[in-house]
Amino acid sequence: MMDLVSGRFGRYFPCLADPARRSSIGLKAALVALHLVYAGVLFLCDADLIQKTKREPWYTALYVALFVVTLIQYFVTAGSSPGFVIDAMRAINEADTLFGTIGVAKHAASSKNGSLNLTVDSSQSARSGSTSWSKVVMELYPPGTQIRTFTCGYCSIEQPPRAKHCHDCDKCVLQFDHHCVWLGTCIGQRNHCRFWWYLCEETALGLWTVILYCSYLKTSIARAWWRDVIMILLLITLIIALIFLLLLLLFHSYLILTNQTTYELVRRRRIPYLRSVPERVYPFSQGICRNLYNFCCARTSITDLERLPTALEIEEKSRPYTCCDFLTCRCC
Ligand SMILES: [Zn+2]
Ligand SMILES: [Zn+2]
Repeated sequence: MMDLVSGRFGRYFPCLADPARRSSIGLKAALVALHLVYAGVLFLCDADLIQKTKREPWYTALYVALFVVTLIQYFVTAGSSPGFVIDAMRAINEADTLFGTIGVAKHAASSKNGSLNLTVDSSQSARSGSTSWSKVVMELYPPGTQIRTFTCGYCSIEQPPRAKHCHDCDKCVLQFDHHCVWLGTCIGQRNHCRFWWYLCEETALGLWTVILYCSYLKTSIARAWWRDVIMILLLITLIIALIFLLLLLLFHSYLILTNQTTYELVRRRRIPYLRSVPERVYPFSQGICRNLYNFCCARTSITDLERLPTALEIEEKSRPYTCCDFLTCRCC
């Protein structure tokens, strides 16, 4: 019966033929519906808000603008690529085909922020010889690391440090954070910033909606008991969702400031390159300011890959803080 229904759906709406795609579209529709219900009930029940809109239209216009921007941000983030390893490999192979060879240049600036910049430079290529994706990835690991230790067992491609295979997307993701069910996509190197902005906007919208519900209940309570019950129930669920969003936003802000991912934080003891790193030492952190800059502005290219820190760098990061470190802003 279900096959028959899905077959007919698939014939008229080809995009709904795939069950995974159907559930993803269903989740997105549910999220939009939830937003419309919470805001719609408010505008239907709150006569004072309608009066206020007539007196001060800019107030409601700002709320509606935040509502629309949040939904747009949700769809943009859901439709963005997290940065797949296969795409980085193709980009490098294409450059390799076009220019013959790829020069892997460790610039002073890039080694300072712990990443390798891949530049096509024929003069350097001639000196260093031809390189492939495997060689590029090898450069990111300490010398002597076996290639099979960082080859994905599912895609059979070499993973740069911090990449992980996602079983939902069936691809390896660069700087894998987590697979978000609500967005229907992975969060990784290329969309983590968008995801943070989405959390920020959703939290602001939730907070503003809670304030509007509270002001309605303050002025209109006991006019119609059934209406108040509905509003109180919606307010309770909204407050629970807001607390969750706020904690998630704080958690991701902490990850960004310390240059970590959710996966690295949760599975620290199971990730080979993090096992030997002492607790409270963030191996990829370059200081709060540089971490923020890298997160917001620097990592725009898919071929901008981070290398593993050396044992000496880890030792330097493990050194306890002294008064001199605080004066020189070592943590920044
Ligand atoms: Zn994989
Ligand atoms: Zn995924």
